[in-house]
Amino acid sequence: MPPRTTNRSGIVLRRRVTPAGDIMVSLLTPQGKVRAIVRSGLRRNGLNSAHASRLSLFHHVGLQLYQTPNGDLATVQQAVLEGALPTLAQPERHTYAHLSAELAELLFQEGEQSSEAFELVAGALRGIAHHPDPEWVALVMTHKLLGLAGFVPRVSQCARCGAADPAHPDPHGGLLLCRACSGLPPLPAATLDFRRSVMRRSVRASMETPLPPEFRPELWRSLERFVTLQVGQLRSWPQFQGSGLRAPA
Ligand SMILES: [Zn+2]
Repeated sequence: MPPRTTNRSGIVLRRRVTPAGDIMVSLLTPQGKVRAIVRSGLRRNGLNSAHASRLSLFHHVGLQLYQTPNGDLATVQQAVLEGALPTLAQPERHTYAHLSAELAELLFQEGEQSSEAFELVAGALRGIAHHPDPEWVALVMTHKLLGLAGFVPRVSQCARCGAADPAHPDPHGGLLLCRACSGLPPLPAATLDFRRSVMRRSVRASMETPLPPEFRPELWRSLERFVTLQVGQLRSWPQFQGSGLRAPA
């Protein structure tokens, strides 16, 4: 009989409190994504509120999990804080961290072991917490997360007719269009260079060549279109519009 208690160390990507007072968490660990529940009854009895507060968004926690025989969600028996990034509470950093965590939660599935995904998400959150330009960290790292999960936007051909080296925005799919297919002016050379190279370039190289802030709203819009069509809906996008971090579409 396999052991029903396991230990996992990971980053809290999602946290939700149910009407019954249970806390549902989703963590990314080097062994893959793990979903677990802190039952409110257990909180009153054994797992106290300090344990529950350790399971805050973006915290790196060590959990002791109990898997019930009938295969329900694993129950959190113990939670130990292994690392926190307090600067992520700053509104701008929080927005980018939230987007990155939400995207990672959507991209990586339970049971898919990937220490690479774990390291990338951990690196993204550390960068967003400490770098003077958290927006650029978020732009680079969200592209890298997509690439790691196999969602690589095709940018060498026009999304509509297949013509080579498109240079115009694709407002519907977040890809690129040729001059004949697009009614919009071409993108700046620096934007095209980023879109064409970010997936294969190292994080370090992309971080060393940030785009000026005025070029970034277009990158966010393309990313939003691409992610919405290819991956799924994220709730973090409207926060970008609301906080004025990017121009309205
Ligand atoms: Zn075309």
